[in-house]
Amino acid sequence: MSDLLKMTATEARNSLLKKEISSVELLNAYQNAMEKTEALNNYVTPTLDAAKQMAVNADKAYAQGNAGPLAGLPIGVKDLFCTKDIETTACSAILKGFLPSYESTVTSNIWHSGGVMLGKLNCDEFAMGSSNETSIFGPAVNPWSKIDGIDLSSGGSSGGSASSVAAGSALMSLGTDTGGSIRQPAAFCGVVGLKPTYGRCSRWGIVAFASSLDQAGPFTRTVEDSALIFSVMAGHDPKDSTSASLGYTNFSEAVKSNIEGLRIGIPAEYNVDGMDIEISDLWKKGRAWLEQAGAKIVDINLPHTKYALPCYYIIAPAEASSNLARYDGIRYGKRIEAETLDAMYEATRADGFGEEVQRRILIGTYALSAGYYDAYYLKAQQVRRLIKEDFEKAFNDVDVILTPTTPTPAFPLGAEVSDPITMYLNDVFTVPANLAGLPGISVPAGLSNQGLPLGLQLLAPPFEEGRLFSVANAIEKQAEFLLAPARAAGDLQ
Ligand code: GLN
Repeated sequence: MSDLLKMTATEARNSLLKKEISSVELLNAYQNAMEKTEALNNYVTPTLDAAKQMAVNADKAYAQGNAGPLAGLPIGVKDLFCTKDIETTACSAILKGFLPSYESTVTSNIWHSGGVMLGKLNCDEFAMGSSNETSIFGPAVNPWSKIDGIDLSSGGSSGGSASSVAAGSALMSLGTDTGGSIRQPAAFCGVVGLKPTYGRCSRWGIVAFASSLDQAGPFTRTVEDSALIFSVMAGHDPKDSTSASLGYTNFSEAVKSNIEGLRIGIPAEYNVDGMDIEISDLWKKGRAWLEQAGAKIVDINLPHTKYALPCYYIIAPAEASSNLARYDGIRYGKRIEAETLDAMYEATRADGFGEEVQRRILIGTYALSAGYYDAYYLKAQQVRRLIKEDFEKAFNDVDVILTPTTPTPAFPLGAEVSDPITMYLNDVFTVPANLAGLPGISVPAGLSNQGLPLGLQLLAPPFEEGRLFSVANAIEKQAEFLLAPARAAGDLQ
């Protein structure tokens, strides 16, 4: 059983093609792992009946020789993707009971390629958070060891997506990243997390947080697996006017390409106050690994980096306040009855939204209100342009940028949740890529002194995910990171 859990997606795919294993066997192993790791609170809605049918279909397709690229591979989905007739809550009380009548484009691409849906995964409410603690279902727990007896945060907002892949209860999973929600939990849980270029994957059918920043992306155990699933997720969608008109690309080839002669930028501004020494040491190591692999290291400057976090925390809440206006007690999920229509809106929204979501709506409506719009929202948009231009200039001199993913390793649950500013600081290295629309990947690269995973982040110019995969693969090879969470379903080594 545990042998099946040890396989990467690429290995499982090859064994399925050779008929050494069946999709149903693989699903059974994952079902067992889901039961064993229930305490991690990763799945909010398991969909095992659907999974069974999908696995049977995948086995038929293998027998007939027409199996899609993901056929039989068990995949978990962040509960932010609308899944037809399957409860989709964004981990919010206000969406409890919402059964979408449609399927998001990205998930539909995955099922058409034969992927097997294990269930919906835990996340922060409406993807707002960095620890998965704002979820109505309670936090997803990090499968790596506890500290002083306290469970660690899986990171957020896609905590369940990262934790399940690390714990072996999903072979791969889907998440979304508005300001770091794929890369930060990937780093905390020791898995690979890719945030694609804005416009690369369709946002259609994904519960919107901040529409100019949101992107879907995969969590996997290896870079090779990331390329495998990303090739299926990406692509133009006429239903999303912001999706890029680019055809199918098979990114698996890019993983193996040589990085000799590539120029790797090291931005001075990412040496922020409060960064753990073990993180800056890892950053130096990453630099050395890439040099050994034949890349050239170039020191660069991204002078407006220091404004990225405040800029993000104006733009993201502003867009969120507008996107979340639709939850009015009439069109979706929950309603609290009251005497008048206005009173019903108020009661429904006060009861249905959690504290962090309400905070964002208040910040957002304030920043957009007449009189403050110019001072906050417009200013933030201008700063966003400067941040984007910093990257454009830097990419004249370098091919890829290397930074740490997070300023610290995973923290204990409860440690930061009462202080929003401390929580927001988690995103310091990840938000610039969203503001500039760039692709970014987090690769597990080492362990902290306490034995917790640490990630390195790579950023590339728009639509250069292939380049990210080649460099990420070089880091992965040299880091020899072993996926060994204490609370995994089986021995993943
Ligand atoms: N932690 C960030 C926030 O709370 C990013 C969230 C995300 O990427 N969805 O806004």
